[in-house]
Amino acid sequence: MARPFTAEDFAARIERAGSAIQEAGLSGFLVTPGADLLYFTGYAPTAITERLTMLVVAPDREPAMIVPTLERPDAEAAPGSSNVELSDWADGSDPYEAAAPLIDPRGRYAVSDATWAMHLLGLQASLPETVYVSMTTALPTLRAVKDPDELERLTAAGEAADAALYDLLEVRYSGRTEADIAADLTDALKAHGHSEVEFTLVGSGPNGANPHHEFGERVIEDGDMVVLDFGGIVDGYSSDTTRTVHVGEPTDEERNVHEIVQRAQQAGFEAVRPGIACQELDRASRSVIAEAGYGERFIHRTGHGIGLTAHEPPYLVEGEELPLEPGMCFSIEPGIYLPKEFGVRIEDIVAVTEDGGRRLNTTPRELTIVA
Ligand code: ZN
Ligand code: ZN
Ligand code: ZN
Repeated sequence: MARPFTAEDFAARIERAGSAIQEAGLSGFLVTPGADLLYFTGYAPTAITERLTMLVVAPDREPAMIVPTLERPDAEAAPGSSNVELSDWADGSDPYEAAAPLIDPRGRYAVSDATWAMHLLGLQASLPETVYVSMTTALPTLRAVKDPDELERLTAAGEAADAALYDLLEVRYSGRTEADIAADLTDALKAHGHSEVEFTLVGSGPNGANPHHEFGERVIEDGDMVVLDFGGIVDGYSSDTTRTVHVGEPTDEERNVHEIVQRAQQAGFEAVRPGIACQELDRASRSVIAEAGYGERFIHRTGHGIGLTAHEPPYLVEGEELPLEPGMCFSIEPGIYLPKEFGVRIEDIVAVTEDGGRRLNTTPRELTIVA
């Protein structure tokens, strides 16, 4: 396990956010429970609920957090709470009226993407002239650029997922169901240090042509392609990797499609360097697949950021002009999906370095034959 984050770490993050808020011309950032609140305070309420919990970060005032009275002891115990001025509101009172003094009534605030609509609507009713904008749009690099302690955790998460994949290259597929393989994946992820398993996608044969097929009772047979996409949490940070294996000897078409996806993944990786736009990585991967004649069969973006959550900014998608910065972490996961036949996807997490990219997943990307 990495060194736990301290009050000083959280204070430094809040200070960085203050500068980013100023640069973006905002009055502040309203942070509700979820990854953003965890990032700034280390506080994760037991349940994210209809009761308002909100941190207000603004360059011109001390950070302040308002919490339900009954949850105040939990909030006080969080490692970053000593940096914030805590206040509470009791059941039966109006939390939005209680929060209003923390907010400039004519200000412009970024809001956590995951803020419940009911809370934002409540704030809008109590502060009708305040303007609210999405955190992703207004402060896109705030959590997207990882610090060295976060990179250490993401690296460990990648290694743990890779160890699970190696286990899965040794198990029997033929004659067992996708659900059986998913159970093996869950066991392997836990055995290699995951505290939570978030997803275990096993897409065999035609099911592999659906990128979000989870797993089912289909019995895997000799001749099947099998897409394995899985991840979870290690020391607070997410893992996410995909490999596609084949049961027995593949056909020429299967080999060819897999090889195209592997080249597309490599092209995306080789395009990684600071300063280039996210959409350029998508183009680099996509053009390999398009030139091979499968452009219509690559039906999703090339990748997504990863950190405290498995999917977060930045997104590697056409139209995303955000430039890469050292410390950003994201998946590069091109795929080809042939309906009613099979699918192939290869996914590594990649961290941006000063002079290129570093893979956090290093298992073989070649087509592996399993039994
Ligand atoms: Zn086959
Ligand atoms: Zn994945
Ligand atoms: Zn992914």
